[in-house]
Amino acid sequence: MRNISRRTAVAGLASTTAAMAFQPAAFAAAKKIYDLVPIKVADGIWMIEGATEYFTQDNGGAIVNCTLIETSAGLVVIDTGPSLRYGVALRNAIAQLSTLGVAAVINTHHHPDHFFGNQVFNQIPIYALEETRKLAETEGDAFSDNMYRLLGDWMRGTEVTPPNKAIASSSLSIGEREFLIYPLEGHTSSDLAILDKKTGTLIAGDLAFLDRAPTTPHANIAKWKESLQQLKAVDAAGIVPGHGIFDRAGNSLNQTTAYLEWLDQSLRTSVTEGLDMVEALESSIPEEFLAMGAMPQEFQRSVAHLYPDLEREILPLTNR
Ligand SMILES: [Zn+2]
Repeated sequence: MRNISRRTAVAGLASTTAAMAFQPAAFAAAKKIYDLVPIKVADGIWMIEGATEYFTQDNGGAIVNCTLIETSAGLVVIDTGPSLRYGVALRNAIAQLSTLGVAAVINTHHHPDHFFGNQVFNQIPIYALEETRKLAETEGDAFSDNMYRLLGDWMRGTEVTPPNKAIASSSLSIGEREFLIYPLEGHTSSDLAILDKKTGTLIAGDLAFLDRAPTTPHANIAKWKESLQQLKAVDAAGIVPGHGIFDRAGNSLNQTTAYLEWLDQSLRTSVTEGLDMVEALESSIPEEFLAMGAMPQEFQRSVAHLYPDLEREILPLTNR
């Protein structure tokens, strides 16, 4: 259950607790307050679970999972949410977990829901793969325009703050805790997965989704599937997917692989059969995928992202 006292502390609205108890989610959305509740998932690891929807005025863009990991030097924050306001709420939630503060931030990739809260952590190391850092710099402003358009006032004051430190090594030590670094790709051209050695917890970023349709605006599906194979080989004790609940059984890796295989095959079949993009949008979606969050909208977006390239790849061959 959601924690009234924490949300109240975040909002600084102690006097309205009674009113909030009636319809807390609606209240939080109306007041544009992020309701961030860390959920403990392993020894010294918490996740803040995002909504499994697309960006809306109701969720304020809080659709992403953020991970908090306790170390002797302070907490490590993996991904920071969609806005300055989210970053502030995240910092307040963290203050209730540890008095040591935040030692470092790590961004898994350059999508705006994962790094636009960086602004409140700009005095400390914000790690990412070098390619991610560059992409955040070059594409950040365009993402920002789009996020302001989608989320309006939730974004107020948000300024793009790219990661400030590149991770070049295969492991990273913060305090006494050691993390293995997996530089992968496929969801974007630069996707970082992180394994906490102490607990065997894998923070998979958006390489893994669970019961929420994967997003594909920058995807290379073949490379993404290869990365998922590598992550399966890690044999993690638990997985924090980029979107969806904590995964103790590897379901997120299997489900994401299955969805990508179906998506690729379905679109290829549509192209081969000579369907245009509008007709491809009408393709039937298997029940198991239709039940995911953000469906069928995410499938429709994927058709728009992927269809032109597939037509270029496939049509010349079928015309020979
Ligand atoms: Zn992403």
